[in-house]
Amino acid sequence: MRPLHVIVIGAGTGGMCLAQGLKRAGVSVAVYERHKTRSDGLYGYRVGIDPMGNRALKECLPPELFDTYVATCARSPKFFNVLTEGLRTTASFELLPNDDPVDSERSVSRMTLRQVLLTGMDDVVHHGKEFTHYELHEDGTVTAFFADGSRATGDVLVAADGTGSRVRRQYLPHAEVKDTGVIAISAKVEITARTRALLPAEAFEGISLTFAPKGRFCIWHVMEFKWDRDGSLKHTVGGNDAELIERWPGLLYDNTRDYINWGFSAATDKFPPDVLRMRGEELKRLVLDMTRDWHPHMRELFEAADPGSCFPVNIRTSVPIPPWKTTGVTLLGDAIHTMTPGHGVGANTALRDAMLLCRELVAAHAGDKTALEAVGAYEAEMIPYGFARVADSLAQNGTGGDDPLHRPVVGRLVLAATRAFFRTTALVPALRRKFIGDLTAYRGADV
Ligand SMILES: Cc1cc2nc3c(=O)[nH]c(=O)nc-3n(C[C@H](O)[C@H](O)[C@H](O)COP(=O)(O)OP(=O)(O)OC[C@H]3O[C@@H](n4cnc5c(N)ncnc54)[C@H](O)[C@@H]3O)c2cc1C
Repeated sequence: MRPLHVIVIGAGTGGMCLAQGLKRAGVSVAVYERHKTRSDGLYGYRVGIDPMGNRALKECLPPELFDTYVATCARSPKFFNVLTEGLRTTASFELLPNDDPVDSERSVSRMTLRQVLLTGMDDVVHHGKEFTHYELHEDGTVTAFFADGSRATGDVLVAADGTGSRVRRQYLPHAEVKDTGVIAISAKVEITARTRALLPAEAFEGISLTFAPKGRFCIWHVMEFKWDRDGSLKHTVGGNDAELIERWPGLLYDNTRDYINWGFSAATDKFPPDVLRMRGEELKRLVLDMTRDWHPHMRELFEAADPGSCFPVNIRTSVPIPPWKTTGVTLLGDAIHTMTPGHGVGANTALRDAMLLCRELVAAHAGDKTALEAVGAYEAEMIPYGFARVADSLAQNGTGGDDPLHRPVVGRLVLAATRAFFRTTALVPALRRKFIGDLTAYRGADV
C-alpha cells in the first residue's frame, strides 16, 4: 500500500486541528488556505471551547502545544449574568470554578486559537491558495484546483472551508445553508480604567446576556490574557505558563490584547437593507441608533468600540440532508453543519469532527482499513450529531428571525417570561444549581 496523503481545504478551526493530528501521527497532509497570511481575514473575537473541544485539541496537538493553548486562554468567566437594557441585573449565577485543562469551559481569543493551531505547521499550510473545484479519479484519488492555476492530488480531500464551502457546492449541491433572519454586529473595546467601570462587577468578571424589547439582544464577554498591551507577560504570570508563552512564536502574529467584546443582534427586518455592507463607524452609529433607550454605560461601550473591529454577521444555518454515498471527498465543521451561535458549539463540533476523522484516517494509514472505509465510518458518526447540533442551536430562544421574541406584541410577553424564568431560577436554590449544572453539562455532552 502506498502511504496515505490527505488534502485539507481551509486552515480554520477544524481543518487545522485535523492537520495537527495527522502530522502528529505521521500521516502526510497538506492544507490549502485562501488567505495570504496567517493573520488575514478573521471575523469574530471570542470562542468558548467546551470539554469536547478541549479533548479534541488534547488528542490532536503535540503535548507542549496543547499546554500553550491552555496558557493562552483568557481567564475563565466567574459569573453568568442576565442584564436588562437599563443595566439592571435580572439574574446572576456564580459559575463553578474549574481549572482542569480538559474538563472545563475555556474562553479563547479566536486569533490566538488560530495562531496556536498554525504553530509548527509552516511545512503543511499553503497560504494564498483559493480552492476552485476538484476532480475525482477512477483510482479513488482526488485532485484539487486553485485559482492561481496550481493543483494538488491526494487520497482524501477534506472540505474544511467553512459556511460558504465551495467543495460542498460541488459535492453536495442540494445541501443548502439558509439565513435565519437574524443579524449580529460585533466589536472589541479596549479595557481602560473608564471602560472597566462601565460594567457592573459581576458582568466584568463574567459572561452577560442582555434581552431587550423588539427582540434586540447583546452578549458581553470580558477577555483578559496573560500578556500586556505591548505583548510582554503581566507581572502576575510566572512558572510554566510564563515559559510556555515566552517561547511560543505565535504571539508575534497575534494582535489579541485585553478587551470587552460585545455582540448586538436583532431580526434582519429591524436593520437597514445595506447593513451587511456597512463597516466601522457606520455600524457603531447604527447600533447606537438602535439602542437609544439603553443605559448610557452600555451605549458608551458601543461608542468606545474600535471601529476597525466592528463587523456584521448574517446568522446562517445548514438545512440537514440525508447521508450520501462515501467517496474520497468528505466535509467537516461549518462546511457541512453551519449552526447558529445559539448553543456556542459550532467550533466545538468542528473540533469533534477533526478528532474523529483524524482517528479514522490514522487507522487507514496504519493499514487497518481503506481510506474509503475510514471516511465512511467518520461520516456515519458525524452526520447524525452534526445535524442534531444544528437543530438544537436553532431551537434557542430568539435565534430565528421569526421567533416570537421578535414579534411586536407577543415579543413583549416572551421577553417578560424570559426575564421571569431567569429571576426565578436565580432565586430558588435547587433551580439555580440545576441551571448552573445544565449550562456546562449540555456543552460537554456527547464527548
Ligand atoms: C462571530 C462568531 C462567533 C462565534 N463564537 C463561537 C463560540 O463561542 N463557540 C463555538 O463553538 N463556535 C463559535 N462560532 C462558530 C465557529 O467559529 C465555527 O463554527 C468554526 O470556526 C467552524 O470551523 P471550520 O473549521 O468549519 O470553519 P472556519 O473556522 O470558518 O474555517 C474555514 C477556513 O476555510 C477557508 N476557506 C474558505 N473558502 C476557501 C477556499 N475556496 N479556498 C481555500 N480556503 C478557503 C477560510 O478562509 C477559513 O480559514 C462563532 C462564529 C462566529 C462568526
